[in-house]
Amino acid sequence: MAEVNLKCSCGQIRGTAWDIVPHAGTRVVCYCEDCQAYARHLGQAETVLDEYGGTDIFQTAPAHMTITQGKEHIRSLRLTPKGPFRWYAGCCRMPIANTGPAKLPFAGVITAFMDIPGDRDRVLGPVGWYLQGKYATKPLPPGRKIVDFPASLLVRLFWNIFVWKLKGLGKPNPFFDENGTPISKPEKVFERNRG
Ligand SMILES: [Zn+2]
Ligand SMILES: [Zn+2]
Repeated sequence: MAEVNLKCSCGQIRGTAWDIVPHAGTRVVCYCEDCQAYARHLGQAETVLDEYGGTDIFQTAPAHMTITQGKEHIRSLRLTPKGPFRWYAGCCRMPIANTGPAKLPFAGVITAFMDIPGDRDRVLGPVGWYLQGKYATKPLPPGRKIVDFPASLLVRLFWNIFVWKLKGLGKPNPFFDENGTPISKPEKVFERNRG
């Protein structure tokens, strides 16, 4: 049951995540403009984005993670009115995770928020999917197929979310209270023209 420590850059926010293993979740790198804007808005392009503008994300159930320290520093933003909640550390502006509303049992944890010494692939397994490659900041190396949302990922993700819902793993959710209210009201960062 691979357990992973969670830590923001300055160390004020800490927690733990479980079942962060390939058979229990999905690991993706997303190149979409919004994931890039999220990192850039927080001034974390250097820490979070790979050399092609990709964000490494492990998609899991909210109940698979807990914040044990510094929860009061967690903030959120939205880049579009209906877009995901994008959580981050108010203390050091480290991106933490993307979630839907409280009723969706889903959390895409930014793996930079995971405190993994050494080789990430050893713990998380290899990246399963590279998403929205057309937005990469430079041509991707061969082998990273340019797809928007691959059907194989959607099937896995919908199945996982279905199972997490059945198992009640949408709660507890570190980002929402019992009533489904976000622990920090999202700041609206609607900075780009949407094409
Ligand atoms: Zn994205
Ligand atoms: Zn911090």
